[in-house]
Amino acid sequence: MISFIVHGGAWNIPDEMVEAHRAGVSKAMEIGWTILSNGGNGIDAVEQAIRSMEDDVTFDAGRGSFVNALGEIELDASIMNGSSLRCGAVASVQNIQNPITLARLVMEKSEHVLLTGMGAVRFAKENGIQQCRRDDLLVARELQRWKTLQSQRSFSTKDAFKADLPSDTVGAIAFDNKGNIIAGTSTGGTPNKYPGRVGDSPLIGCGTYADSEVGGVSCTGWGEAIIKVVLAKTIIDRMEMNGADGDTAARFGIDRLAKKADGYGGVIVIDKHGKPSVCFNTPRMARAYRTSEMNSTVIEV
Ligand code: ASP
Repeated sequence: MISFIVHGGAWNIPDEMVEAHRAGVSKAMEIGWTILSNGGNGIDAVEQAIRSMEDDVTFDAGRGSFVNALGEIELDASIMNGSSLRCGAVASVQNIQNPITLARLVMEKSEHVLLTGMGAVRFAKENGIQQCRRDDLLVARELQRWKTLQSQRSFSTKDAFKADLPSDTVGAIAFDNKGNIIAGTSTGGTPNKYPGRVGDSPLIGCGTYADSEVGGVSCTGWGEAIIKVVLAKTIIDRMEMNGADGDTAARFGIDRLAKKADGYGGVIVIDKHGKPSVCFNTPRMARAYRTSEMNSTVIEV
């Protein structure tokens, strides 16, 4: 049994952007699936699938990310190996093209879990990842959005989600042929965020979690609310402690996000048997999944 699932954000994706989201998650899915179906490991599948969405300007991750209040791009990412519970994350990193690869390096080559800002960039350099230019990440659409938001008198992150602003964080979960469950998430955060603001995506247990004896989770949505309910680990605990299946646990998590923190978002889940689940309380969520028991990939936006 192998299975793979990816997401490209949950929000009110307008009709004219549906095709780009379909294409982006479909490409990422194909990349991860090819690795897994050739006997590759889940870490490579998750990293490569997320890299492809970081490189796709459709999504708020890597190139095409939102701009913070100072006009800078600060990126967050995390990855977790559910078989060893080893994990790695980076937060508020600047001028890094593929933060998921840096998160993987933190997991595999450091004794730490989370590196931030300049320290993360220093670690990148030591491990052969050079900084890119801001212009390699910045796209005209986001520069324009930033100018518009700057001209508004007050603007909160929550407003961003209420006002249907994009929430295009990306994530992936793999169940490989050795039964390893790997989860990862990457984001540019929220539009016009305060410099140094860190959301749920690089926080293990909030935006990402994996335990191969239970399942894996990657989240997207309003990070401040997701952090309050420790969404990814809440879903894992529901499966582990209450014996819930992935669908029930994902629904429990999203209901809790809404009720306790007035939050919006979406989650993807793979349970210990490799079964994928999706749940969201936004109008749309971009996702794609496949298992070795299916003949083709499901792609939905
Ligand atoms: N969860 C991300 C954050 O708050 C944003 C998103 O999912 O779009 O940083």
